[in-house]
Amino acid sequence: MCVPGCGEAVAAALSRRNFFKGAGVAAAGFAATAIAPPVEAATRRFKSVVDLTHTMSPGFPTFFGEPGIELEKKFDLKKDGFNLNWWRIIEHAGTHLDAPIHFSEAGATAEKIAVESLVVPLAVMNVAAKAAENPDYQLSRVDLAAWEKRHGRLPAGCCVAMHSGWARHAADAAKFTGKDTGGVLHFPGVDPEATAWLLTERRVAGLAVDTLSLDHGPSKDFKTHTQWLPAGRWGIENAANLDKVPAAGATLVVGLAKVKDATGGPVRLLALV
Ligand SMILES: [Zn+2]
Repeated sequence: MCVPGCGEAVAAALSRRNFFKGAGVAAAGFAATAIAPPVEAATRRFKSVVDLTHTMSPGFPTFFGEPGIELEKKFDLKKDGFNLNWWRIIEHAGTHLDAPIHFSEAGATAEKIAVESLVVPLAVMNVAAKAAENPDYQLSRVDLAAWEKRHGRLPAGCCVAMHSGWARHAADAAKFTGKDTGGVLHFPGVDPEATAWLLTERRVAGLAVDTLSLDHGPSKDFKTHTQWLPAGRWGIENAANLDKVPAAGATLVVGLAKVKDATGGPVRLLALV
């Protein structure tokens, strides 16, 4: 079965771009907990791979202000014959995924997220100019409508990504977190109203942002998180290089670490263009 409009969305995507070849449309079985991609994996074609992942290091800014990763050299080539580090990491640091369980009682943990929802069409919303004016900017319904006016209806099972330009501040923790003298953070996020609209009006697998949180910095109620994740969707935070991919037509590959009972975890985020 297919949700209303999804067949048309797939047809529109196929006609807009010769990206997916073949007629294998597997749009079956959409449910709140598993948003399937619209085409079979074997039919995909791409010309280049864009790395949307920041390099993780102890200095990468985190929401809590503590190092997101620590490496300890346990074995050394000269002494032991091989090199090997032990890692201690925060689940939600660097370029990472929020699993549904992160903000729900019974949502999927990282290892249970359907792999079909981790290889999906990528829709990039460029709000960099607005975010440069207002660091607390929130991706809005108006931005989503503007994207659809140019590129057509959001493809079923896609990831909606906010490109705010914040990735370029990652080397400067003060700028990236926007922490003011009162301890309040300032960076762009996704408007809860736009989130609600995506949940009810479109079939979207995930949200991605190039900032520390799906909710903008000053948020106290995390209303985008609290709507989105319990609905069986995932979120990605600290995406990089969203300025290097097209607004429509790329495929996102979310290489999520598969850790039992994890509430999220590091991802190697790739765009096939
Ligand atoms: Zn997170």
